[in-house]
Amino acid sequence: MRIDIITVLPQLLESPFSHSILKRAIDKGLVEVNLINLRDYSTHKQKSVDDYPFGGGAGMVMSIEPISNCILSLKKEREYDEVIYTSPDGEVLNQRISNKLSSLNNLIILCGHYKGIDQRVRDHLITKEISIGDYVLSGGELAAAVICDSIIRIIPGAISDETSALTDSFQDGLLAPPVYTRPAEYNGWKVPEVLLSGHFAKIEDWRHEQSILNTKARRPDLLK
Ligand code: SAH
Repeated sequence: MRIDIITVLPQLLESPFSHSILKRAIDKGLVEVNLINLRDYSTHKQKSVDDYPFGGGAGMVMSIEPISNCILSLKKEREYDEVIYTSPDGEVLNQRISNKLSSLNNLIILCGHYKGIDQRVRDHLITKEISIGDYVLSGGELAAAVICDSIIRIIPGAISDETSALTDSFQDGLLAPPVYTRPAEYNGWKVPEVLLSGHFAKIEDWRHEQSILNTKARRPDLLK
């Protein structure tokens, strides 16, 4: 899989891909992530990528020209399954969307900034718009990092314990059960007896029951 992230702040995105599961997936060659500096596609002397909004008003708008140049130059090299724009008014990211994106080959993620991007980019060059929640960020970089993390960790081989990603919350439509580790007792607070029983089937039943209780209490909407 290949993910090309178009951004005005590539430095902001270096850290998320340099640690833990994402770094390992990249090192293993399961995914290639490229940070593309949008300014490299500006034809302006000062490498600017934004301009004043038509009709006036506060904030700058990202211009169509560098974005279009950048996307077209990437598209010349390969076909893309989706060209994603991170946007607070996009479809809200969930596990179903991440699973689907995770099975694709080539993705572009465009990070917005300022007041947003010229609407013509969205109308003609973008194939999918994703929000990471009902709040506004300063730029699309953190949203792109969240989207990439949720996609990459479920690529087979990215997590060493293969079943681990599949037993996470949302994968089976339920929230995860509680987890414990040693010591079995701390401050008089005990780990549920069943987890120490060594009885695999009973443990599975208990976990499933806890998942349902947890989902009923916190996210009853998932059970509908
Ligand atoms: N004026 C816009 C917000 C712009 S915020 C509005 O009111 O809708 C600047 C950029 O941050 C956006 O272009 C987008 O790329 C990114 N962004 C902000 N909030 C986001 C969110 N919840 N999910 C994904 N991207 C977001």
